[in-house]
Amino acid sequence: MNAVNTQAHKSSHTGSCHCGAVKFEVRSALLPATRCNCSLCKRKGALMSPVFAVDDLHIVEGAEALAMYQFNTRSAQHFFCKICGIYPFHQTRKDARLWRVNLGCLDGVDAYTLESVIADGASLSVVEEA
Ligand SMILES: [Zn+2]
Repeated sequence: MNAVNTQAHKSSHTGSCHCGAVKFEVRSALLPATRCNCSLCKRKGALMSPVFAVDDLHIVEGAEALAMYQFNTRSAQHFFCKICGIYPFHQTRKDARLWRVNLGCLDGVDAYTLESVIADGASLSVVEEA
């Protein structure tokens, strides 16, 4: 995508869930696109952005259409649209101030053309101190 800056620095994007109830703006880098092998992400199969600060995410429309799912350590917050079921973004487990978006939800971004890496979320999923 020529119009989209895929370099490591951040760029601004608009995005939405599938049905359009949830619309958001985000300022994030696109690379490296990340897949995660945790028990949730391996089912979702989404390509995610690198982490960005919570202040860089703005929900424009449809905050009331979002539901939130938590599992295991219950520190991450996984949001999805109650109508279409799509995951647009989540708050990471490591740091509540750091979020990732679903690159497939961004307007004008072909997530499948981006180089991707695999995050080893599976090894973070074991609760030892809880
Ligand atoms: Zn939706």
